[in-house]
Amino acid sequence: MMRFPDYIRKHAFHTPEKRATHFEGRSFTWAEFSTRIHKMGKAMIDLGVIPGDRVATLGNNSHWLVEMYYVPCAIGALSVPLNYRLSEQEMVDVIADCTPNVLVVDRHHAARAAILQARCPSIRHLIYADWDTPTVEMPEGTQFYEQLIAESDPVADEAFDDIATGGDETMIIFYTSGTTGVPKGVMLSHTNLTMNATGSGHLYGYRTDDILLLSGPLFHLGTGSRVYTAVAYGTTMVVQSRFEVEETMRMIEAQRITTMTLVPTMLSMIMNHPDFDKFDFSSIRVLTYGAAPMPLPLMERAIAAIPGVTFCQGYGMTETSPVLSVLIPADHVPGNPMISKLSSVGKPILYCDLRIMDESERPLPPGQPGEIMVRGPQVMNGYWNRPEDTRQALRGGFYHTGDAGYLDEDGYLFLSGRTKEMIISGGENVYPIETENCLCKHPAVAQAAVLGMPHEKWGEAVHAVVAFHSGKSATPEELITHCREWIAHYKAPRGITIWDGPLPLSPTNKIDKTKLKTEILKGCEA
Ligand code: ATP
Ligand code: MG
Repeated sequence: MMRFPDYIRKHAFHTPEKRATHFEGRSFTWAEFSTRIHKMGKAMIDLGVIPGDRVATLGNNSHWLVEMYYVPCAIGALSVPLNYRLSEQEMVDVIADCTPNVLVVDRHHAARAAILQARCPSIRHLIYADWDTPTVEMPEGTQFYEQLIAESDPVADEAFDDIATGGDETMIIFYTSGTTGVPKGVMLSHTNLTMNATGSGHLYGYRTDDILLLSGPLFHLGTGSRVYTAVAYGTTMVVQSRFEVEETMRMIEAQRITTMTLVPTMLSMIMNHPDFDKFDFSSIRVLTYGAAPMPLPLMERAIAAIPGVTFCQGYGMTETSPVLSVLIPADHVPGNPMISKLSSVGKPILYCDLRIMDESERPLPPGQPGEIMVRGPQVMNGYWNRPEDTRQALRGGFYHTGDAGYLDEDGYLFLSGRTKEMIISGGENVYPIETENCLCKHPAVAQAAVLGMPHEKWGEAVHAVVAFHSGKSATPEELITHCREWIAHYKAPRGITIWDGPLPLSPTNKIDKTKLKTEILKGCEA
């Protein structure tokens, strides 16, 4: 039976002295990492955690947050990393949904945790996980992570064999980003996450001797998937508390980082930083990216600006552990004819049965866009507490991704956008991504978001919100004319809002279109 703690045991056995994690000046070897997980598991049992319980975490990235991916499953419980960017009420809603009885927290979120404990009756134990004493007063009865580990009896690995989860049992619940509605708790099993690690790791070209930088948020599976791959491969994980562009660049240089994952906004911040040329990035081997559409011009610039690095793209979602397809490093190399596929998200990974279907769930031929549907061992067990949503999402044996796209003759997957974001204007289907890519080709445009706005005659009208590169600008008329040169008139925006400063981002760094739409509709009423 596949079990993640077994990987950790194996590395503790084969490479006990090798670094597993490094955070703020301290490192733990694989032997220490394994022992800490077992000791914390034992401490949790002593606190009364029983198989099936949920254990939530609320923290910036750290070594303990990585450990807490694995402590609960070692004792039959479920881990739930909470998104610290949610508002207090949103967090209360998530906690009411998954009812954890333990909440582990760090100094950055200690004040919030005290409020959450008061508001959420399910939380029986608060555990404070920083090295240093808390700067805010913690509620009475708060436990201390390091103290629990120090005082926990060392137990043999085998002690947990009867209660540890494994195989198809859920080990962790990740909440989705909430881009198209409220965040949903996705139940993922050991098999799901192992299939992701083994089905995509070799395509990305990961190696056991890699030094991985984790700077994206660990509450999101985009970064989380790198932890699972690292644990499968026995890679060293260097953890950064939070992505901060300058600090990230400094860490890459100082820690001789060989690989990391970037969402497009992170890459753009690095590339546009005034000191970009001053840092030594020569240690980097593989940069992976994904989670949101990558503007083609940005990728082309990155390939030219960071030579010697192989780029690799992953596409997927929380519900699929997450990777479904990979655009491999070779397809990013200038001169390779397959560079023509750079605007695709690559080919489906091992064991991923991916089809494009129409509204009646009939398979569509190459070239024709429809909904992306998948089945395979990486598809989630379901949504926590949402049997109806689960049934809907998994009907007919396929997971309905809610993303639209097509496969070309060579088997490459091209995304057209979210089925929910598709704009129907005068009976024509418009996928925002096409218009956004076109706007980004204009030299003045730094970011573009395309939305469907209610329109009396057309039903919906294509509307764009754009942010300019600093010191550059263009008029709405110029931008509309530019689009009409490249794409069909009905796909070009009818209206354009110029946004002052960078576009607002959602908690997982995707452009927050809901917020943009509300702001623009407000502007129309005013
Ligand atoms: P919710 O499901 O709550 O509405 P969400 O779908 O944004 O939020 P995630 O699971 O974090 O939550 O994100 C998955 C989505 O991100 C995919 O469905 C897809 O639309 C987008 N995505 C992921 N990878 C890529 C990529 N490489 N290129 C473009 N879009 C991507
Ligand atoms: Mg989704």
